[in-house]
Amino acid sequence: MLEILFLLLPIAAGYGWYMGRRSIRQKQKRSRKQLSRDYFTGLNFLLSNESDKAVDLFISMLDVDDDTIDTHLSLGSLFRKRGEVDRSIRIHQNLIARPSLTNEQRDIAMMELGKDYLAAGFYDRAEEIFLNLVQQDDHSEEAEDQLIAIYQVTKDWLKAINIIKSLKRKRQQSLKHLCAHLYCELADEQTDPDLKFKTLTLALKQDSDCGRALLNLAKLYLAQQDIGRSKEMLHRLKKADIELFPEALTIANQAYQAKADQQAYRELLHEAILTGAGASVAITLAQHMIEQGDVQDAEKLILDGLYRHPTMKSFQHLMKMQLQQAEDGQAKKSLNMLAELVEQQIKFRPSYRCLECGFPSHTLYWHCPSCKSWGTIKRIRGLDGE
Ligand SMILES: [Zn+2]
Repeated sequence: MLEILFLLLPIAAGYGWYMGRRSIRQKQKRSRKQLSRDYFTGLNFLLSNESDKAVDLFISMLDVDDDTIDTHLSLGSLFRKRGEVDRSIRIHQNLIARPSLTNEQRDIAMMELGKDYLAAGFYDRAEEIFLNLVQQDDHSEEAEDQLIAIYQVTKDWLKAINIIKSLKRKRQQSLKHLCAHLYCELADEQTDPDLKFKTLTLALKQDSDCGRALLNLAKLYLAQQDIGRSKEMLHRLKKADIELFPEALTIANQAYQAKADQQAYRELLHEAILTGAGASVAITLAQHMIEQGDVQDAEKLILDGLYRHPTMKSFQHLMKMQLQQAEDGQAKKSLNMLAELVEQQIKFRPSYRCLECGFPSHTLYWHCPSCKSWGTIKRIRGLDGE
């Protein structure tokens, strides 16, 4: 009898082990079931626009399972993208407060919290976080990008420049266009002409084709009566950024004021038209020709332009020229009315548009108010523009 009992012992032990395992598995299954049920409830809250209830539920679930950290990071990012920054801040702050987080997980959550603060306009708190993360090799590049973004919003141009200058050569190269604009912003704030020259020269050192720096230097040299250098900048601008050349027309007119410069002035404008400067430059040249008595050449220039690239601006100018020559009568009255109608249409329509996001404007912005790109707002091309 005793032998039989001994024989049954391994079977009893095996059964006990099996039952124990089954109980653990059932417990895990129940926990997972509860977890997925909670997630579904949370998602339902989100879908029915009850975001606060969803956030409370997701935060309470943080203690349940470490695997949910990625989901919480995604949710926080989703809330921030929807503009619900207070909720993303709550999620990320709760994540960071977890003592069981690894250093890597904490850094990722800190990066997200910094982005939340930036989106909410708490720039000093965001700056503090990114300045810490810049020291971490794995996150330094992203933190540097975020710091550059903060300093652009807070207009700390020099701080943004210093971050760019501290980057590796390849990344510096990719940001040279931005860096040149930052120097131009800095120059705009400076009142001392010598300092302005120095800063604009630094902008050109970053980006030798920076049309904004060339335009500002042409203006500055003109104000200093250094006509030769001003002309040099205008020629460089024509080569570097022809779309910006129409902004330099007043400067060109003043730089080439001397009687001996009239032919060179015509040549400059003519070259600019051939390079693709647009209707405004052609109209300025035509006006100059009329002032010099070359009415026929002026008309031919505008007509040629209209055949090649028809624009409302050129059409209106042609009507103005015809009006000056027309004899008084009904035909002149009708032409005058038509010219006024076209003029109103031109005034009503925006002259500039961002090439990046399509933002329309009546004035030239260097920094797009909509998409925050630098130097992407250009004069509109085509029938409504140049
Ligand atoms: Zn834009």
